Amino acid sequence: MSDKLHQNLAIIGHVDHGKSTLVGRLLYETGSVPEHVIEQHKEEAEEKGKGGFEFAYVMDNLAEERERGVTIDIAHQEFDTDEYNFTIVDCPGHRDFVKNMITGASQADNAVLVVAADDGVAPQTREHVFLARTLGINELIIGVNKMDLVDYEEGKYEEVKDEVTDLLNQVRFDTENASFIPISAFEGDNIAEASDNTGWYSGDTLLEALNDLPEVEPPTDAPLRLPIQDVYTISGIGTVPVGRIETGTMEPGNNVSFQPSDVGGEVKTVEMHHEEVPSAGPGDNVGFNVRGIGKDDIRRGDVCGPADDPPSVAETFQAQLVVMQHPSVITSGYTPVFHAHTAQVACTIESIDQKLDPSTGEVAEENPDFIQSGDAAIVTVRPQKPLSLEPSGEIPELGSFAVRDMGQTIAAGKVLEVNER
Ligand code: GDP
Repeated sequence: MSDKLHQNLAIIGHVDHGKSTLVGRLLYETGSVPEHVIEQHKEEAEEKGKGGFEFAYVMDNLAEERERGVTIDIAHQEFDTDEYNFTIVDCPGHRDFVKNMITGASQADNAVLVVAADDGVAPQTREHVFLARTLGINELIIGVNKMDLVDYEEGKYEEVKDEVTDLLNQVRFDTENASFIPISAFEGDNIAEASDNTGWYSGDTLLEALNDLPEVEPPTDAPLRLPIQDVYTISGIGTVPVGRIETGTMEPGNNVSFQPSDVGGEVKTVEMHHEEVPSAGPGDNVGFNVRGIGKDDIRRGDVCGPADDPPSVAETFQAQLVVMQHPSVITSGYTPVFHAHTAQVACTIESIDQKLDPSTGEVAEENPDFIQSGDAAIVTVRPQKPLSLEPSGEIPELGSFAVRDMGQTIAAGKVLEVNER
């Protein structure tokens, strides 16, 4: 375990612009590739008569994982700079990238936006920047990648920089704190060391920029919120709900409540990594045991919180959402599935209250008849089954959601207000 300050980092950008390659490069340059992975690849390479090229081993390994469809692939990798221990919370490369980004980005403090110099701003660049803004990413570092493909030309870099700056201005992302760096993830330019290929650039390397990010605000003093992932029965112990603590702490002796199942009791034991612990906090994956709770009393999608400050259950809620992709238009009455923390519940968009101008965030139209792809709106939503949610202004970890229909993520958003049952 690192005793450095921690940051969650999202790597975002258009497909093929080099996100995975950059993650591989960051892991490699910071010596964060597990020794056994390098060893294994070294042995294989030596057997085949080619030594050296450790970076190639890293990339092979990532590519292999991706081919096998392993979802952990490049997300949840860790690396350190002098100041920080970074966890990559998401790197949208797979099928559910938008949904992952929603859950990932809501937890990410800052992000690296990768834009290929030879392609510039592309559809997913827009989409991700828009989401990052909606979901509250603080600072962006923009890596203008694949500089090797444009012969490290300053003019090309400036062109892409201007294009991205325009985009950030459009969505009102504060460009003052955005830093731009010409990089090649593949060749390693300006990642750990200033590159001779970009003599015209005198700014930070990517690792310096990451190291200079502002400290993350300390975890809120929000009450315990632990979305339940699964419920097991373990002989000798009984019912064991498991999940990740989003906010607050859990200790044996705490009185807890599960919502919306609306049952509760006293926590007897808390386990992490198969060992009992006296206390667990934000980010910890725990299994625990509550006096008097049976396997059928609670389920995935419940949220566990203190009995005297229980998780909110929404009769209706107001939300700000962004429509990512929808084949036609969304009108009131539409009932897709909302994915929030570990819950999946069909919810009816009861009314579309305001359409927002995505470039300014200001109200563009009151009570519009419909919204469509690219629109941002304030809507009132009625879950068809009880759903526990919190206003993102109070507990952001429990305040964002993705909207899915027809096998696609069609919208993402955050909860503004919860009208409790
Ligand atoms: P992702 O979809 O954004 O994760 O992109 P990948 O990391 O998979 O990269 C897509 C392709 O671009 C791969 O063939 C990479 O080898 C290549 N690539 C990534 N970064 C660079 C770079 O800096 N220079 C060059 N020439 N190719 C790169």
